[in-house]
Amino acid sequence: MHLWRIFLLSVLLLPSGGPGGKPETQQQYFFTRAQAFEVMREFLDAIRLDRPENLSLPSYVRERLAWANSASAAGTLQVNLWDKCEGCSANDLMGMNFRNGRFELDVYAPRLLRLMWDEQRQELHRKPEKRAVNTFLLAVVHETIHMERGSAYYLSLPSAEERFREEVRAWAITVLNAVRPLRAQLQPLDEDWVKADDILAACGDDPACGGFQGFVRAKIK
Ligand SMILES: [Zn+2]
Repeated sequence: MHLWRIFLLSVLLLPSGGPGGKPETQQQYFFTRAQAFEVMREFLDAIRLDRPENLSLPSYVRERLAWANSASAAGTLQVNLWDKCEGCSANDLMGMNFRNGRFELDVYAPRLLRLMWDEQRQELHRKPEKRAVNTFLLAVVHETIHMERGSAYYLSLPSAEERFREEVRAWAITVLNAVRPLRAQLQPLDEDWVKADDILAACGDDPACGGFQGFVRAKIK
């Protein structure tokens, strides 16, 4: 199986004490570049399609992950790990871009590291927990849905309204084809996805419904 190539695009800030230094506040932790890279590697490993526990993933999820794998192998998709995201909220895990003739999947280390953080032991888990893996996996699926639009869509510089419609489309497809089947398997899921599923269901699965549109608009700011 192809191994993802990850490009770490900037360096994480270290406290003056260096790795292992005490956080200045309870919420603030510092991680080394090597730790961020390792956590990213663990998540990518956890979503490998040849892992036994991933054989029962919904077929749509497997199809999108397979697409991302082959695009990465072909060099038409690059995976980037960023130490921060300008203009993002602290909860943003991933985004996508079309740059230099290829798609790029941008992963933001702050949220990624929080997904790996063990609150009780106050250290990083050695392996991501199932719910965190599902959060990561659904974000990959969601971003590849945007990539399905192909380069022409992004080169046309879509307006803010067109981009909003694209978000509604991608959220609805992620919910219907990935979140709902995972929920049916009783998989632990991030509450945002559960909420999105409940709202879309209450809308009779019509993404044009005001409730769902309002939810997506609030998510993307
Ligand atoms: Zn999106």
